[in-house]
Amino acid sequence: MTEQKLYEEGWERFPWWWILLENLLYLVIWAIGFAVMWPLQVAGAPLASLGYALFILITVGWLLKVHNCSTCYYYGKWCHLGWGKYTAIFCRRDAGNPETGMKLAVVYMILPLIPIVGGIAVILLGGFSWALLSRMGVFVVLNGVQLAVRPKGCAHCKKRYICPGSAAK
Ligand code: SF4
Repeated sequence: MTEQKLYEEGWERFPWWWILLENLLYLVIWAIGFAVMWPLQVAGAPLASLGYALFILITVGWLLKVHNCSTCYYYGKWCHLGWGKYTAIFCRRDAGNPETGMKLAVVYMILPLIPIVGGIAVILLGGFSWALLSRMGVFVVLNGVQLAVRPKGCAHCKKRYICPGSAAK
């Protein structure tokens, strides 16, 4: 990446509270998604919830880090999610392919849909409860919050104007 194309006023390092809050938002959303699908069990095992968690671990926790974060300016640095630091723990710089990373980013659109479909399945299978509906409501609202927060991170990002996934161009 050429340094001169970077957004000069972008932050070299995001504040700790930003990183903490944005990661907490992700974790809470995933935890609610996990809980929503909990009743979808086979032989007593919550397979849908476990599959969802495994999918997150493999895609967000590993593949997207290798293909997006290892090639990012923030590799080894505190980006808005701190994932540049996390990636540097297990992956060398430029280990991945940014084009593959862009394709894989579709995962962020699929992830919110899984618990919604799962929750509808729970209701259709006779598991309706107001608690479930409330969880699904909070899940949808928090995903909306995440969508609203995203451009704010991009607005302070060094890659703001050169990143294909930037929400603040
Ligand atoms: S511009 Fe936005 S999507 Fe791209 S690296 Fe920066 S924060 Fe991430």
